[in-house]
Amino acid sequence: MGPAETVILLSIDGMRWDYPARARAPALASMAAQGASAGSLVPPFPSSTFPSHATLATGVYPDRHGIVNNEFFDRVRGDFRRDDDPAWLLAEPLWVTAERQGVRTAIAHWVFSYAPWRGIAATHRMPFSAETRDSEKIDRILDWLSLSGRDRPRLILAYLHGPDAVGHSEGPDAPAVLDRVLRTDRLVARLLKALDGVPRSALVVVSDHGMAVVSRTLRTRGILGVGEARRARAVSTGAVSNIYCPDARACSAAEAALRRIEGLSLFQLDRLPEGLRYGVPSRTGDLVAIAPMGAYFVDGTKETPPARGMHGYRPELREMQGIFFARGAGVKAGARRDSLRAVDVAPFICRLLGIAPAPDIDGVAPENLLAGTHPVPPPASGSPATTDPGRPGGTTQYPGIFLGQGRAPADRPPPPPVAGDAWRATLTRAGRRSEPPSTYPFVASARTRLSFPASIVVSTAMASAVAGSKRCPTVWIA
Ligand SMILES: [Zn+2]
Repeated sequence: MGPAETVILLSIDGMRWDYPARARAPALASMAAQGASAGSLVPPFPSSTFPSHATLATGVYPDRHGIVNNEFFDRVRGDFRRDDDPAWLLAEPLWVTAERQGVRTAIAHWVFSYAPWRGIAATHRMPFSAETRDSEKIDRILDWLSLSGRDRPRLILAYLHGPDAVGHSEGPDAPAVLDRVLRTDRLVARLLKALDGVPRSALVVVSDHGMAVVSRTLRTRGILGVGEARRARAVSTGAVSNIYCPDARACSAAEAALRRIEGLSLFQLDRLPEGLRYGVPSRTGDLVAIAPMGAYFVDGTKETPPARGMHGYRPELREMQGIFFARGAGVKAGARRDSLRAVDVAPFICRLLGIAPAPDIDGVAPENLLAGTHPVPPPASGSPATTDPGRPGGTTQYPGIFLGQGRAPADRPPPPPVAGDAWRATLTRAGRRSEPPSTYPFVASARTRLSFPASIVVSTAMASAVAGSKRCPTVWIA
């Protein structure tokens, strides 16, 4: 049989697990009948567009890809507000994994796909515009499918706006949501029809999160508006707020203020539940607040029309879960699972394509949804756990460990040169805010083992110097 010749991964924003059945969406129903499906797709935490699409593309959780919400603050780089710059993404996305292995890719909108990631980009890309209609992206996919020769993509990713906006404005139970689901389903039907003429092709349709009914806002300005808590800063999207504190006093005042809200979950950065997979030392708030169901956070004072639907809550809540449908080459016909994790989507796509996934990802290809495909071992040369010397500010990561932040801020001078072969990186031990950052010398090509989560900051100048010397700085994290 061999791998699929063409694979399309389509993500539909805000398509809750139960929408297709409620709307009686015929194309998605036919995919379930002829292909494989899951009762729901479990997003990462937080169940929001940027973290979830980063997980779908990388096969790792936010504590490793670093996109901890649609908006957050990075203690080194500053504010992230739905940015497109791929440098924010700390783990390798699918299109880079594929291009590295000689597979041409094309992307009709996906977060972080609009520019090269560490020097490698999708062969065909579509500049982002919020005005681009979902149907235009399908048109573009059909154009790509008609290409021939070297540039014809084997992997195509596309993001559709789907029913997210109407789910927010009208609530998940509104009839308008189901209208939008049916309109989106017609686009899926167009793709399926086109793929009928493409030998050994497969279509995978997923979504980033679901939607829950909400009726009230939690205004962080008001909550943190008194006494020492005023010095804390909340950066929120939907159900999740990261709170950054200048010192311990501001932090405990903010904590006390937030604890007064009934049903709110609150965690300190160094006491995050492990299962949340959320701790990124430079990015996760000193406090992480999750709104109670029915409520969501609003920062600032601007009046916005109240939402009737929201997401971002913990992924085990059924309302937060999305969809998974697959049909075509390599997909087991009639296979069904109760649920699948979003981290498992990237390795599933790799199996269909017959390529090796990025090493040591969190996801695992779901064997019982596959037919006639086999795992492909990673290429023997070039351990991907090494910092790429050719790319200034390269970063590296390893299982369960975050190693982030490839760039020092432009306004900070590079660290002084280090004698001999050694180069220095600043390692900040996670969750120990009281301790000053420790500086550890790294020796080029030496193996340095760390037993704790850490963030690493390497200046662009330093990385260039190492690259220029043609010595590969290999940082091994155990
Ligand atoms: Zn949304």
